[in-house]
Amino acid sequence: MDLNAYQQRAENFITEIGREYYIVGAGLKDRLEIAAIYERYADLFTQAAVRDLLDRLNGKEVHYLAEFAVGGYLDNRVKALSEAITNAELAATVPWDGQDVPYQQVPVLLRNEPERARRQALGELYYNRMAQDNPLRAERWNTLHDEARRLGFIDYVDLCDRLRALNLRPLAEQMTRFLNETESVYEPRLAARLAGSGVPRDQAHINDIARLFRADEFDPLFPAGRMLDALRRTLTGMGIDMDAQPNLKLDLEMRPLKSPRAFCSPVRVPHEVYLVIKPQGGQDDYNSLFHEAGHAQHYTHIDHNLPFAFRYLGDTSVTESYAFLLEHLLHNRSWLQEILGVSPEDASAFVRFALFQKLWFLRRYAAKLLYELELHTGPVDGRAATYVSWLERAGRVQVPQERYLSDVDDAFYVAQYLRAWILEMQWRRHLEHNYGPAWYQHREAGELLISLWRIGQRDNADEMAGHLGAPGLDVAPLIEEALSAEP
Ligand SMILES: [Zn+2]
Repeated sequence: MDLNAYQQRAENFITEIGREYYIVGAGLKDRLEIAAIYERYADLFTQAAVRDLLDRLNGKEVHYLAEFAVGGYLDNRVKALSEAITNAELAATVPWDGQDVPYQQVPVLLRNEPERARRQALGELYYNRMAQDNPLRAERWNTLHDEARRLGFIDYVDLCDRLRALNLRPLAEQMTRFLNETESVYEPRLAARLAGSGVPRDQAHINDIARLFRADEFDPLFPAGRMLDALRRTLTGMGIDMDAQPNLKLDLEMRPLKSPRAFCSPVRVPHEVYLVIKPQGGQDDYNSLFHEAGHAQHYTHIDHNLPFAFRYLGDTSVTESYAFLLEHLLHNRSWLQEILGVSPEDASAFVRFALFQKLWFLRRYAAKLLYELELHTGPVDGRAATYVSWLERAGRVQVPQERYLSDVDDAFYVAQYLRAWILEMQWRRHLEHNYGPAWYQHREAGELLISLWRIGQRDNADEMAGHLGAPGLDVAPLIEEALSAEP
């Protein structure tokens, strides 16, 4: 195999796929057509290409390329099952209030349903419908497990861990520590939040948590009309003039088919990076705008001389850490007051809520990681009880067993989020130590970030933590944040 030719084709492939996702997400086209692109680039993901790359695993570039090839190869192997599951979900309905409600709409209804008994009834219908497609999901996971072994790995865990350098076992140890050490603050905060929303503690269910986090009382703090200005002012403080970045393509036009959720499409890194926005307002919308803006700033600042593998591939935890760094400005009292003009009392109330929500997600993802380490070592059938046991231990509310196969992302993406949350906290500690809580108003903070952004994803999250002088990823600052948060 000619490695240079392979990289060139891989870059063309990613550009075409990225452009298609951008065009459809931006509402410029009403149908996603990626099958034809995959067909045209089928040579990138053949068994021969995969084996060739796996045989010469040496150095980061080849490593990242091998991970890319294996990912595409595995996607291809389960393509029919993935489509069958997606289509079943698209076609499924749940009978509710005399209507057939689309299955995919139910999580939104659950979040917005104020009556607890109705939430439970609707949830039951939803999980029953979910269970009908679990045989397809089981077949898909078991196929992926078989393929991992066929490629010469011990199991699917080994494949993800080695190819993606996720350091899963040390991460599991750190997250076990997180679960143990935050237990004492988690339970009373959970109980208080549940009591506040009228949910009996001993009956608390994951449906109630979805409702709790809807938190529409905070919506007025985050008006749609001020989102973009808040982003612009934040970046300006860091010395970045968003409007003077020719490679950052802000898509603000209103189109009926445009995705309501902000997204970033790095079509050609770093020359053509789209940030697509349709402001709705509310905390979720602000979260996603700042998250995606973090990705967009990372991609637009990557050195164009870097090889393809370091501009597009590598450890996704790194780009996610920058996305979380901007997103978590919403947890910063001075930012809320100075940039959004929120009152000190409202800022405090919102930060308390947001940090509880973050604690919930960290505990949930810790449990998902520990569960997936078990799930992916053998056949997935009959693992529902394991799922429930991990998730209930961490979340301390009832969890439906029917979710045991759908509440799992491919290739341990759960680990990537956890690594990103840990790394982001290490960035933030460093920035706050040097520039104070309002670090986002310091040009030097921006310069430091730009110097990190330049290297793309050449270095993984553990190595990036090393650039700050830390021995590696360390969960301690996250534990401290959880313990020191106001209840
Ligand atoms: Zn992201």
